[in-house]
Amino acid sequence: MTAKSESQDASVEGLASALSGLAAFRQLLEAGPDPIVIVDDRGRMVLLNRQAELTFGYSRRDLLGKSIELLVPAQFRDLHVAQRAQFQAAPRVRPMGTGLQLSARRCDGSEFPVEISLSPLAIDGHQLVIAVARDVTERRSAEREEQELLLSVTHVLEGITDAIVALDATGRITRANTAAAALFGRLREELVGQAAFDVFHWEDDSGRRLPEKEYVFRQTITARSPVIADSRYFRTLDGRRIPVEISSMRVADSQGRVEMIVQVIRDMTRTREVEELKNQILSLVSHELRTPIGHIKGFASSLLEPDVTWDPATQRDFIHEIDREADRLAALVNGLLDMSRIEGGLALTELTRLSPATVTRRALGEVDWAVREHRVSVDVADDLPDVLANAAHLERLLGNLLENAAKYSEPGSEIHVQARIVESSVQWSVTDQGQGIPADYRERIFEKFVRVPGVGSRKPGIGLGLPICKGIVEAHGGRLWLESPPGGGSRFLFTIPLARSPE
Ligand code: ADP
Repeated sequence: MTAKSESQDASVEGLASALSGLAAFRQLLEAGPDPIVIVDDRGRMVLLNRQAELTFGYSRRDLLGKSIELLVPAQFRDLHVAQRAQFQAAPRVRPMGTGLQLSARRCDGSEFPVEISLSPLAIDGHQLVIAVARDVTERRSAEREEQELLLSVTHVLEGITDAIVALDATGRITRANTAAAALFGRLREELVGQAAFDVFHWEDDSGRRLPEKEYVFRQTITARSPVIADSRYFRTLDGRRIPVEISSMRVADSQGRVEMIVQVIRDMTRTREVEELKNQILSLVSHELRTPIGHIKGFASSLLEPDVTWDPATQRDFIHEIDREADRLAALVNGLLDMSRIEGGLALTELTRLSPATVTRRALGEVDWAVREHRVSVDVADDLPDVLANAAHLERLLGNLLENAAKYSEPGSEIHVQARIVESSVQWSVTDQGQGIPADYRERIFEKFVRVPGVGSRKPGIGLGLPICKGIVEAHGGRLWLESPPGGGSRFLFTIPLARSPE
């Protein structure tokens, strides 16, 4: 031991005994729950309380006179030495490492998070520092849990496709998820901080803008259970009217004071559309069923009339009508069945090589009854190469298009059927001279139950023919679309891939 270190040791011991000698001071040191270490101006520990021994896992003897850096994790030691020097230069009471997550090192090398407050203490001409180190392991893990919870709540809110907003008791928006921003057509930052009344333009069924007192959050403030408001509409910035359902609930503190109001705003556009479609289908199907049944009943009852004798020709006519109406009913039921089959994914079986000319002839034969009063012209070369297809499906597809061409155009007008090779497929087209299809229906008519309103909608049908055609074409790997020929009318085109010729 050098003379210098001897004198240092002497000063540490002297200080330690001077401090320990202050009984009241000692008592104070031991009274607190936190570890306390007193360090001299050279960073040596001169006094520790019991709590410090327990927390750091050292005995007092091991630490006295040692550098405080012993209790600092290795990676922070250099920094600590520098900061200690800074403190010594301008000692004052302050927390250490403001804004930093500090950690301390135990005897066994393990580390734990701490909060340290520093106070200068001048004694016997020595400038000492009292460091109170609070173990904040529990607080940090509680904070972490809280943060994780917050993060997962945020994730959940963001994952929900319904718009969710939180309002304060005055009706000001405090939070909004991405779906809310999308529904209201604004950036989230534009929503937060705004008064709900300024942003949410609610209307009722009749299109009347609701006054603020009718806003759901008003009722929610006093309601114990969630308030649900349907028949509300949101008017977008570009003037669209979106049907919504709002469920609103309040979050109150233990004293019953409203902390916030959470509103889930569901866009009901799709639901309304489905409801409308359902009603439309019901009325279409019931109308389409009722008409043939009425006819069948009428003709059958007439034939059975006891006091009327019908001549054989009339009887035949009536039976003919009954037969036709029965076919119409069967077609309707088959259409519904086919549609549900196609929706489940049409599995193509019995694929064979088919000559386009033969398929076209057969399809025309099947729908002869429908196209009889039209001028049908066919341009399908007998030597077109085969396609690979299910014969019944392909004839049905072509038959449907021919039937539509006849149904939606005047008797006597022309229906032109053509087939030719385009790339590796045969492309059929069926062109009529009817009224054509308005632009806004060109895509939609391929959807189920969609019919163009107007004269055509008085013709029998429930809007399943084209979706069935589309299902068939797509199952074969082809495409079905509509074009408008320059002279008016409609042209439906579809492709079916060629059968690969054997090597
Ligand atoms: P449906 O004929 O039973 O109504 P489709 O699915 O076959 O069902 O057709 C849907 C709608 O498309 C028809 O209601 C009609 O409005 C329109 N449409 C189909 N084919 C034609 C056509 N060739 N010319 C004009 N409109 C057509």
